[in-house]
Amino acid sequence: MAKLLRINLSESKATFEEVPEAYRKFGGRGLTGSIVANEVPPTCDPLGVENKLVWAPGILAGTTVPCSGRLSVGTKSPMTKGIKEANSGGGMAQKLARLGIKAVIFEGKSKEPTSVKINKDGVSFSSAASLAGLGSYAILEKLKKENGDKACLAFVGPAGDMKLTAASIVFTTPDFHLRFAARGGVGAVMGSKNLKCVVVEDGGVNHVQVKDKDKMKEGVAKLTKHVAADHFAQGLRRMGTPQIVMITQLAGALPTKNYSMGQFEKAESICGEHMEEVLKARPNCETTHRCMDGCIISCSNIYSDEKGKFIVSGIEYETLALVGANCMIGDLDMVARINRACNDVGVDTMDIGGALAVAMEAGLLKWGDAEAALKLVEGIAQGDENSIIIGSGVKIAGEKLGVKRIPHVKGQCMSGYDPRILKGTGVTFATSPQGADHTAGIVLPGPHDPTYVPVAPTGQAPKSQFMQSWMAAADTLGLCMMIAMPIMEAGPGLHLNVVSSVSALTGEELDDKYICNLGTEVLAIERKFNKAAGMTSEDDRLPKFFSEEPNAPGAPVFDVSPAEIDSVHKV
Ligand code: SF4
Repeated sequence: MAKLLRINLSESKATFEEVPEAYRKFGGRGLTGSIVANEVPPTCDPLGVENKLVWAPGILAGTTVPCSGRLSVGTKSPMTKGIKEANSGGGMAQKLARLGIKAVIFEGKSKEPTSVKINKDGVSFSSAASLAGLGSYAILEKLKKENGDKACLAFVGPAGDMKLTAASIVFTTPDFHLRFAARGGVGAVMGSKNLKCVVVEDGGVNHVQVKDKDKMKEGVAKLTKHVAADHFAQGLRRMGTPQIVMITQLAGALPTKNYSMGQFEKAESICGEHMEEVLKARPNCETTHRCMDGCIISCSNIYSDEKGKFIVSGIEYETLALVGANCMIGDLDMVARINRACNDVGVDTMDIGGALAVAMEAGLLKWGDAEAALKLVEGIAQGDENSIIIGSGVKIAGEKLGVKRIPHVKGQCMSGYDPRILKGTGVTFATSPQGADHTAGIVLPGPHDPTYVPVAPTGQAPKSQFMQSWMAAADTLGLCMMIAMPIMEAGPGLHLNVVSSVSALTGEELDDKYICNLGTEVLAIERKFNKAAGMTSEDDRLPKFFSEEPNAPGAPVFDVSPAEIDSVHKV
């Protein structure tokens, strides 16, 4: 039976505990949320010693269900001041699951920067002083040398050490590229505990035991067959998430010039189609790359310069939207370099893109000035004053620079979908307990829902509620959003193969409503915590300018009523 691993950093002590009955049905986001809700005082200082950092593989981690190895990182967020789950690819979830660890709870605070090693023999602690002052790529090389090529590494960069509110946590892929639990300042919480890095080795053990292997094989085969034929997944396999640039551009929903426009004149220079051509023409690039074992989509990429020198892996849609169009930077190489600089210092590219755009609106740098933007991001590691403002994310940057139009909800930068055009997504941004986020349940039109009108001012709440539940369940199961969306869009039949796979794993009979009921339960836990932390319906609102300014002449504003918005959650 899998165990909880509690790591007390104040005492350098690790304890394996039985999983309480109430937690057994959860993994991933549902489990991190439950533990945070039960163990963290809702009104505590997120960077104080009472806060905890919880990592949990999803329920399906370590099984053959495709794309099921996402890791949930849970805590009280220094950015939203509410409950947080930041989700990452990479190899960590599968390694923890194979070691029989259902969740790791980091609590207390080390006296000095500390490295924690977890393997089949237990847990050990050592000083991480030698990593001080290094950027993420230098830390990666050092840890790789020390730990060999079988471990999964996690660490914070300089932004985490500085406890900046946009700081992320790095997790490595099996081939040692960097992935991030990027959102909500989870890296600042890790930094506040003096937890510099975590090294996990499974040593070849595998505690994941599937009760009914034939049943799981059957479900996995059907899911795999469907995803192979799915149109959106095929686009992801070709261009990755950058394929979304031209979709939102054509819809007038690509955030441009700090969300003042919905189309970017240079969108074709930063879109997936162009990136595919660039990557194919250059040495040492890959148009597809997978962040974890068992991924059948490979939506990521490897981006190198013209001479084949590695820059970054991978560039995602959200970075192209927020660092690219939203800052009016139409140069793909420069977006790649800014992305790398964000990775190196360890900050969320979305909140940094949002912060750079408000800084441009304030006149700190010119619209589209990519070199100045790059310098600002690189200056975070040196502690430059303006760079620290940018590294604190869009809300703090906007307030410090006196900008009125700050695109955030609950302190977290909006994702790359304009809510005036995609109003169901706007309702999700407003009401998600996680703050504005694309993984919280974007609502999109498409053949799966032919009567859905994304710009309609009514009828958006039920769509948002469904998608939020769906994604909360996907995060709890450990499913990547890139597979969770095609499964949802396939209609009622296909998701039953996910249900049967969970049933095959655990041996429990589950009903057809399992996924949405699971998601609804997780959302209720999160809402309850946020309420106790002091959030009210006033925190479930988009910034006013979305209701006052269209993003193009004649385009709609966000006009979903507060009553409809408040109907999303019943808690
Ligand atoms: S689809 Fe993309 S994000 Fe999802 S598991 Fe595969 S590579 Fe990772």
